[in-house]
Amino acid sequence: MANKDYYKTLGVERNASAEEIKKAYRQLAKKYHPDLNRDDENAAQKFKEVNEAYQVLSDDQKRAQYDQFGSGAFDGTGGANAGYSGFGGFGGGFSGFEDIFESFFGGGGARRRGPARGADIETSIRIEFEEAAFGVKKDITINRYEECEACGGSGAKKGTGKRTCPTCGGSGQIRRSMGGFMNITTCQQCGGTGEIIDDPCQVCAGTGKVIKKRVISINIPAGINDGQTLTLYGQGNAGDQGAEAGALLIYIRVKPHKKFKREGADLYLDLPVSFGQAALGCELQVPTLEGEVKYKMPAGTQTGTVFRLREKGIKYLRQDRKGDLFVKVNVEIPRKLTERQKELIAELEGFERPEKRSKGLFRK
Ligand SMILES: [Zn+2]
Ligand SMILES: [Zn+2]
Repeated sequence: MANKDYYKTLGVERNASAEEIKKAYRQLAKKYHPDLNRDDENAAQKFKEVNEAYQVLSDDQKRAQYDQFGSGAFDGTGGANAGYSGFGGFGGGFSGFEDIFESFFGGGGARRRGPARGADIETSIRIEFEEAAFGVKKDITINRYEECEACGGSGAKKGTGKRTCPTCGGSGQIRRSMGGFMNITTCQQCGGTGEIIDDPCQVCAGTGKVIKKRVISINIPAGINDGQTLTLYGQGNAGDQGAEAGALLIYIRVKPHKKFKREGADLYLDLPVSFGQAALGCELQVPTLEGEVKYKMPAGTQTGTVFRLREKGIKYLRQDRKGDLFVKVNVEIPRKLTERQKELIAELEGFERPEKRSKGLFRK
């Protein structure tokens, strides 16, 4: 499927805020809404595209996914179109759409029933501080259920078929009238599938799925932070009978840095300077994640003073701007001095060195 430009569809910039995206979506959704454009196929198509774009861009994780992999990330099983037509597909996400759906139609969207979506897989990865700052490509190994190739996911031995369950007539449910109420239970004979396999596939023992070990390449975007989760839709366990696969959720752990502390996209650094440097001023070599930069510290700088180096922090996730670096100056008081240095400091301070003062001073 061709890669779609969801930003273009909504007419927003790639770094648009959530608010801008929502606003653009609302305008377009109203413009192309089927109720206002009856029998206009072009409008119907636009309406569908706008919804598809919004469904992805309104969700932080889906948006990150899209920025990384393009719309192909959502074509896997059923694709975005299936999600749209189901009014609630796409893993039940679709949150942004539902609220406008309700405001248009005055009711919630009915969820599609059918074979169950595959289960999500959760895993975690520990990356270096710099890798989080600049982005990194990593391979992770997972075990997941995939559709059995031998039987094409049907669970029936190749060349054999399934037959409709005689007990429930294919519905998968047993309905019994009990004292005026309808009691519905899952059919025991077919386990709710509505079908009976007489000759199960040997490879998957009739389940239609097999466990496969897979190495998944992930692009961790620059600016990701400790504790965030990357979601790869369609990379989880296979769904039942061709239903949408689950997602692969990757919990990101970022190792701390020896020098820098991070808060969002900003970095914090404690920088020791000498008494002389602080008193007289000097050109400091300040470490950043991208090498040293010069900073002219003025004369008379006090300990604890914080300098802000703009855009020397970390890239904001999915944005074209960077945080700042805050440098806190720690003036170090010299511990070991020569006699000469002691004399000079005493002269500077305009007092006599304590050990040379007469004891009389304290007798007062
Ligand atoms: Zn099989
Ligand atoms: Zn049955």
